[in-house]
Amino acid sequence: MTATAAETLATPPALALSVVIPVYNEAENVEELVSRVHAALADRDFELILIDDGSSDGTGALIDSLAQTRPWLRPVLLIRNYGQSTALQAGFDAARGSLIATLDGDLQNDPADIPELLRILDERPDIDLISGWRKDRQDAAMSRKLPSRIANRIIARVTGIQLRDNGCALKVYRREVIERLRLYGEQHRFIVALAVEAGARLMEVPVRHHPRTRGVSKYGIDRTVRVLLDLLWIRFSMRFLHRPLHAFGTIGAMLGLAGFAVLTWLAFDKLVLGEDIGQRPLLFLGMLLLLLGVQLVATGVLGELLTRIYHEPQGRPQYLTRGTPRSE
Ligand code: UDP
Ligand code: MG
Repeated sequence: MTATAAETLATPPALALSVVIPVYNEAENVEELVSRVHAALADRDFELILIDDGSSDGTGALIDSLAQTRPWLRPVLLIRNYGQSTALQAGFDAARGSLIATLDGDLQNDPADIPELLRILDERPDIDLISGWRKDRQDAAMSRKLPSRIANRIIARVTGIQLRDNGCALKVYRREVIERLRLYGEQHRFIVALAVEAGARLMEVPVRHHPRTRGVSKYGIDRTVRVLLDLLWIRFSMRFLHRPLHAFGTIGAMLGLAGFAVLTWLAFDKLVLGEDIGQRPLLFLGMLLLLLGVQLVATGVLGELLTRIYHEPQGRPQYLTRGTPRSE
């Protein structure tokens, strides 16, 4: 029987730990990855979920054949390349562990760090999410580390969450955190902000990092623009998701009022002073401002409607509470 994503997540955790790793064209790394994860966790109750994100280099078949002899390895094979966030989400939907660990499939993260993160989580019931910090990062300084340092500053500023390293894939979550999230687009980079927004209490712990020795990075410098756009969405959704009319309406009302003032002034010129206003640039400015204002307010009203559609038919509450409510 096939279960839908929602059903899978709703079933109670069947084991202690799910390790979730998305891979895209990592045929050269998969076998060693699988054996390193196993070496790190062999004595535990765990599963490894490898999501093949539509690879074209045989990664999927390789994962399948490795899984034949390893009952703890569960392949999720996506039909095409959806991108890292969706691949991660597919892994989360399949995960059955009460803790969920993620890392990259290119061996830059070290599976041997997972036990230490699990130990910390075990000792700290007040923490829901441990995020790795690549303290000694092994990537090119100019093309990778510098942009990433700037991005970390901006992200901290915009989201208000002080994280030294947003780009580290090695993280361990309590299951409840993952159940409250959905990843779209490329928003795995902001997963910590999304998690904290959903109530997760966070801790950052230094982890090892290795250079990529096989395969190539799947991203170039063009990701910068996409990161900025995603950041815009994160900021908007953190502040205005439940009140879009305030976001659009405020600007709309200001522009509209300015336009109204300009047109009133021109009407006064025309009607009282009898001046000719047809050629005045101010006339166009006033009309433009008023129109823009009305449009923005209308967009805000539509946004309010969408917010209700988003929450109500889906039975999605607009708030989250800590712990599980007691049912009588
Ligand atoms: N990845 C994926 N789908 C994609 C791109 C990347 O599943 O469309 C995987 C990739 O195989 C790796 C991880 O996401 O396991 C991180 O990718 P990469 O190492 O290329 O990113 P970088 O470390 O250079 O930021
Ligand atoms: Mg990498």
